[in-house]
Amino acid sequence: MRVGCRSNVNEAMELPQVELISGTCVSATVDLRIMETTDLHMHLHPYDYYADCPDPDLGLTRLAELIDAARQEVPNALLFDNGDFLQGTPVGDFIAHDRGLRDGDLHPVTEAMNALSYDAITLGNHEFNYGLGFLDKALARAEFPVVSANILRAAGEAPRRDHHYKPPYTLLRRMLRDRSGRVYPICIGVIGVAPPQVTIWERQSLRGHIQTRDMVETVRAFVPEMREAGADLVIVLAHSGIGPIRHSENMENAVIPLAGIAGVDLILSGHSHQLFPSPIFANIPGIDVERGTVCGKPTVMSGFFGSHLGLIDLQMIHTGGCWMVLTSKVTTRSLRDAVASSKPEAPAQKPHVPVRTPKVRKIIERTHLEVIENIRQPVGHCDGPINSFFVYLGKTAATALVAQAQQDFVARRVAKTELARLPILSSVSPCKAGGLSGPRNFSNVQQGILTLRAISDLYLYPNTVAACKVTGADLALWLERAASAYHRIHPGLAEQFLMDPGFPSYNFEIIFGLDYEIDLSVPARFAADGTERDPDASRIRNLTYQGAPIDPDAEFLLCTNSFRAYGAGGFAGTGAERVVFEDRTTTREVLRAFIARQDMVRISNDGPFRLQPVRDASAILHTSVAAHAHLDTVAEHAPESLGVDAQGFMRLRVTV
Ligand code: MN
Ligand code: MG
Repeated sequence: MRVGCRSNVNEAMELPQVELISGTCVSATVDLRIMETTDLHMHLHPYDYYADCPDPDLGLTRLAELIDAARQEVPNALLFDNGDFLQGTPVGDFIAHDRGLRDGDLHPVTEAMNALSYDAITLGNHEFNYGLGFLDKALARAEFPVVSANILRAAGEAPRRDHHYKPPYTLLRRMLRDRSGRVYPICIGVIGVAPPQVTIWERQSLRGHIQTRDMVETVRAFVPEMREAGADLVIVLAHSGIGPIRHSENMENAVIPLAGIAGVDLILSGHSHQLFPSPIFANIPGIDVERGTVCGKPTVMSGFFGSHLGLIDLQMIHTGGCWMVLTSKVTTRSLRDAVASSKPEAPAQKPHVPVRTPKVRKIIERTHLEVIENIRQPVGHCDGPINSFFVYLGKTAATALVAQAQQDFVARRVAKTELARLPILSSVSPCKAGGLSGPRNFSNVQQGILTLRAISDLYLYPNTVAACKVTGADLALWLERAASAYHRIHPGLAEQFLMDPGFPSYNFEIIFGLDYEIDLSVPARFAADGTERDPDASRIRNLTYQGAPIDPDAEFLLCTNSFRAYGAGGFAGTGAERVVFEDRTTTREVLRAFIARQDMVRISNDGPFRLQPVRDASAILHTSVAAHAHLDTVAEHAPESLGVDAQGFMRLRVTV
C-alpha cells in the first residue's frame, strides 16, 4: 500500500523483520526525519545588524548546529528550505546593491546551503525583490534542486502546460536504512508553490517576465503525475501560511486546502512567519495541534529569520515494494531554547554523518565582516534620538524622517508635471514596532552620527517610492484601516491591551501632512487582514488639511511605496489604476540621499495624530526595554513600567 492511502497500523507497534505468509518481505521500522528551514530572510550570522550587536537567537549559522545535531540522531534525514531566504537584512542588500554578483559568483546563502547539503528548496515571494537577473545569478551554482510549480515564464491553458521558471517538482531517489541496518529505495516527490500575489507585489521587476497560478490548482494537477513517476511520498514546500479553510482563487495562505489534496503526504509551510504546531491554531477545524497535522497531513512551519528548525519524524515500513507511514511526530526546535539550555550532551558523532557547521560558519563570517564594515559608514548627523518605541502613542520621529525623504523625492520629480498642482502628502508605516517579530523589533537610532546601519534600522524593506492620486474620502478610509491596529479601549477600565498583536505594524500607515485624532472608544472598522468589519465604525476624528476639514472629493497626491501603491494591504485609493508616479529608486536610497544632503537632520517626534482621551481608562503598551530612557517623551500619558514580560517586552501602563 502506498503512503498516500494509509492503513491503520497500530501507532506504537514496532515491526520486526518478518516474512509474511504471502512471502513479501517487511522491513524493520524505518525512521525518516524531514527538516525545514523557512523565511531565513538573509539571517545568516547570529547578529542584529540594526543594533550592531550579536543576537544568538537567530540565523543559519546557529541553525546549522541544530541541523548537524538532528542529523546525528536519526539514520535518515532530508533538509528543505521553504523560501524567502534572499532578502531581509543589510547583508542581503549589501550583496545585491553594494558588492553585486558577477557571473559565476556564489551568493553566500547559496554557498551555505550547498555546505549544509540541502535536498531541495522552493522560492518565496521575497526571492524576487532584487529582480530576476539577480535571482538567476544567486541560484546559478546551487547544488540542490530548486522547485516552483506556480511561478511561470508563461501560463499555458492548464498547470501541466505551463512554461515554468524553475522545474515544478523533483523526484529525490534515496536509500533509507531501517533499524536492523538494511537499506531500501524510496522516491520522494517534492513540489513547491508560493503566493501568486508575487506578480503584484513585485510588479516593477516581474511585469512581462513572470506569471503565476493558483497554488491549490497547481498542486492538484501535478500530484498524480508525481505519483505516476514513482513518488512514494509527496512533500509540498508551500511558501504559504495557514489561513482560510476553504479554497478561493489565488488565496495567499493556502495550507489547509493544500493539505486536503489527495496524494499530498506532508506540508512544509512558511510565509506567515509563525510556528506550527502551536496553540494559536487550536480550534481550527481539521487542525490537530497535538499531532501537528492539517487535514491529517503532518505539517510544520518553523518561524522566521532562522529562529527554529522544523522537524517531521516519520516511522515507516517498506513492504511489498511499497512504503507505509506508521506514525508521525511534528516538532520545532528553537535557537532560543538551545541557547538557554546548557549545551546538551553532544550525541556520539557518527562517522557517516559529517558535521557541517564549521564550514557554514566560515562562509558566513567572511560576508559578515564585510557587511559590518560597510554599515558603520557615516552618512549624516541628527540632533536627537530617532526611535519607534512610542509610535502608537503618536511619537513618530522614525516614520517622519522617511515620510519627509519620500515626499521631497516625489515633489522634485513631479515638479514640472501636471501632478504638481495637487496637494502632496506622505504616508509611512513603522517598519519595526514590536508585535509578532518580538521585543527587539524597534527602530532605535541615537543622537549624533547617522550610519548606513541607522538607515537600515529605519527602513527595512527593499521597496521603491511610488505615489497614488487619491481623494479625501480615500484618505479617511486609509486612516481607518490603520487605526484598526488598536484594540477598543473602554472607559473606566484599567490596563487594557492597547494593540492588537495580530495587526502588523507595516499596515499602521501614518499620513504626514494631515492632522487627525484617533478615538479608541469605538470598535475598529477593519479586521487585521483588511476586510471591513463594521462600515459604520469610525475612529478618525477632526481630520484636517492645513487647518480645514477635508472635502471627500478633493484630490491629493499621496506618496507611499510601490508595495502599498499597487494594493498590498488593500488600502483605499490604491491599485495599478491609481498609481501616478513610480520610480526604481529604493526608499532606503532616497532616505540615504536625503540625510546626506543635510548638515544636520532635525526631526520632530510629534506626529500628525494624537489619541483622544478615553475617560478613566489606562492601557498597556508593549514596547522595548530600551524605551525606559525615553519615557519623558510620553509624559502626557503618565507612563509607568510594569516590568518585562516572558517574551522580553517592557509592559508600560499609559493613560489614553
Ligand atoms: Mn517571509
Ligand atoms: Mg513570504
